[in-house]
Order: sequence, then structure tokens, then C-alpha cells
Amino acid sequence: MSVGITLKNLVKVFGKVRAVDGIDLVIEAGELFFLLGPSGCGKTTLLRCIAGFNEPDSGRVLIGERDVTKMPPHERDTGMVFQSYALWPHMTVAENVAFGLEMRKIPKSGTRQRVAEALAMVQMSDRAEYKPSQLSGGQQQRVALARALVVKPACLLLDEPLSNLDAKLRLEMRGEIRRICKTSGLTAVYVTHDQKEALSIADRMAVLNNGHIQQIGTPHHVYRQPRSRFVAEFMGESNFIDGEIMAVEKERIVVKTAIGAITSSQKSPKGLKLNQTVTLSIRPEIIRLCKSLLTLPNVFTGMVHDTVYLGEMAQHQIKIAARNDPGNVANFKVFELNPRAYARDQEQKACLWFAPEDVVVLVT
Ligand code: ATP
Repeated sequence: MSVGITLKNLVKVFGKVRAVDGIDLVIEAGELFFLLGPSGCGKTTLLRCIAGFNEPDSGRVLIGERDVTKMPPHERDTGMVFQSYALWPHMTVAENVAFGLEMRKIPKSGTRQRVAEALAMVQMSDRAEYKPSQLSGGQQQRVALARALVVKPACLLLDEPLSNLDAKLRLEMRGEIRRICKTSGLTAVYVTHDQKEALSIADRMAVLNNGHIQQIGTPHHVYRQPRSRFVAEFMGESNFIDGEIMAVEKERIVVKTAIGAITSSQKSPKGLKLNQTVTLSIRPEIIRLCKSLLTLPNVFTGMVHDTVYLGEMAQHQIKIAARNDPGNVANFKVFELNPRAYARDQEQKACLWFAPEDVVVLVT
């Protein structure tokens, strides 16, 4: 049966570095939860505190109802998968998986059956007698997963499990990992710096920076409603433009910027005041190029000064002149899907529009 994980005011310090700095987090039973953030943000340290490889300086770790803060890793009922598969080269696939059971001192009776079940789950039954050197990277990672699953842990902990695989395999294995977690009903905590990995398979995620959680939510929520510039930037590309609040109404906010008024109808931070300085985040893929000026909010004209053509999409850089100071330009990145017309190296006029519901207001 799967159980949840609770972290209470967790702190882990290395010398002067507060790698984990007072983290409170509840991961629900059966959830595939991602810890996401740039290198050095503390995600591995946090995972290792859950696994028991790092002892926190203060705070508590609960797995289900059990306080495991002081317990050694093998008593925590967790299975861990590392970036380096850490398989024994001299053992066969089946022996490597059985080793997972031996380490936990699980009685030998039933070993064959359990190894067979774990290998079936990762679709490696036909490779049981192979040695790791005879397997591809993706297959080795499947064996490492089977070795973690064979002990039937309550929680699966994954530390950048796909980093050593090539791009195509990484995509394939993402779906596999989600399938395995969901069919076994496991609670899984997955560490990565790859936001696409998190967006594509997470139930929920926490974005970390400097040992702190910046935001928690579903992939859709965190991507579309980032709470800070850091989260908006980390989750994908965006155009940021500073401005001052001109109007705050029930369904919309109007912000005065250098290039003119921009309207947002997204749920905004509470307590916004007139003239308050804010930053708007406008993702390149929400901007539409239009043929003629529309009579809608958020319509601007500019000059396309650079385009990268990628087949399914063209990535344009568009300069929009400031209203009262034409020498001062804002540079907008715009992703045009299915670009029908494209002329290389030609500066041309462009008219662009974006919907108020896609404009995010960030308090600076
Ligand atoms: P990466 O994606 O690069 O693995 P991360 O987000 O997982 O990064 P951590 O490995 O948790 O980050 O490291 C967080 C901070 O703690 C870093 O500044 C790191 O240098 C420091 N740190 C981690 N482990 C140790 C250690 N054993 N001794 C000293 N400092 C450490």
C-alpha cells in the first residue's frame, strides 16, 4: 500500500551552505512528485534526506505515519534509483535485481517469483540472463528500476534517472516511468533539472531555489501561473516587461509599460495597488502575428529583425518602439507555429497580439 511523505521544517547545512533551508512539504500517497530546480538548488540533498543518506540538521521526515528522521536508509521502506545505474557488472540482470532483496535481508523463498515480476514490470523479462554490458543505457536503467521495485517499497525515489540516456531514449523512458509508478500505485519523488521531464509526467512539482521551495503545483498551474520571475524563467522562455498598474478591476488589470498599455485578465496577486511597479510575463508561444491592426487590447506593431526557422515553428525577434521614445525598443520573442510564409534575412513589419488571459502579472 502506498503512503505519503511529509517534510516538516527540514534543514540541511553543509558548512556555510544551507542546501535545504526550512522545507515544509506534503507529498500525497500514490503521487508522482517532482523536485525541480537549477544545479545546486538543493533538490538532491532533499531527496537524500528522504532516503536517509543525509541526516537533516533539524526538522522531520515522515513516511506515512512513521517518523523516519533518524532511521537508516534500509529501514525506511524506500527504493532508490540513481543517475548512474549502479549495477554490478559481474552479475546477470536477474542477479542484480535479486541483490535488491538480499540487501534488505528478505527471505530467499519467493525470490525467483519476485524478480520475475519486477522484470516483467519494466519489460525486461527476456533479458534476465544478460550481463549489464550487453544492455543499452535505457535497458540498464530499467534493471535499476526493477532492483528498486523488487522490494515492493512504499516510496520510489529517483535522482535524475534519465540523465545518462540519449534524447530519444529519455523521451521513451519518461512515459515508462510514469506507467510503472501508476500501475504499482507507488508514491514517487523524482529529482530533475529538466523542466520538460517534469511538465510531461509529474502529478505535481515543487520548484526549488537556494534550498527554498519557490512554488508547488501541477505542471499546468506552475507553467501558466508562475508566482515569480524565477519560476517563469525556469519553466520556459518568456518576455518580461516592467510597468506600473493603471487600473485594477474585478476581471482585469491594466499595466502601463514603455510600449503602451497591456491588459491581463489572469488571476493576479492579491492586494495590487494603483501605480505599483510590476513585471509582466508573456510567453513567446501565446503571441499571435496578425495581418492587420485589430481593435483589441494588447495589439502592437513592430519590426521583425531576426528569425530562426525550425520547420514546425519560426522563432522571431520583434522590436517594438516605446510610445514616447521611438529610440527605446522592447525586444519580443515570438514563436509562430506552422509558419506559412518566411523570407530569410528580411526586416519586415509585424503586427502582434496576445490574449489578456495569458498575461501573467508578477510582483517585483
Ligand atoms: P545538481 O542538479 O547539480 O545535482 P542539486 O540541486 O541537486 O544540484 P545539491 O546536490 O542538493 O543540489 O546541492 C545543494 C548545495 O549543497 C550545493 O551548493 C552543494 O555544493 C552543497 N552540497 C551538497 N552536498 C554536499 C556535501 N556532501 N558537502 C558539501 N556541500 C554539499
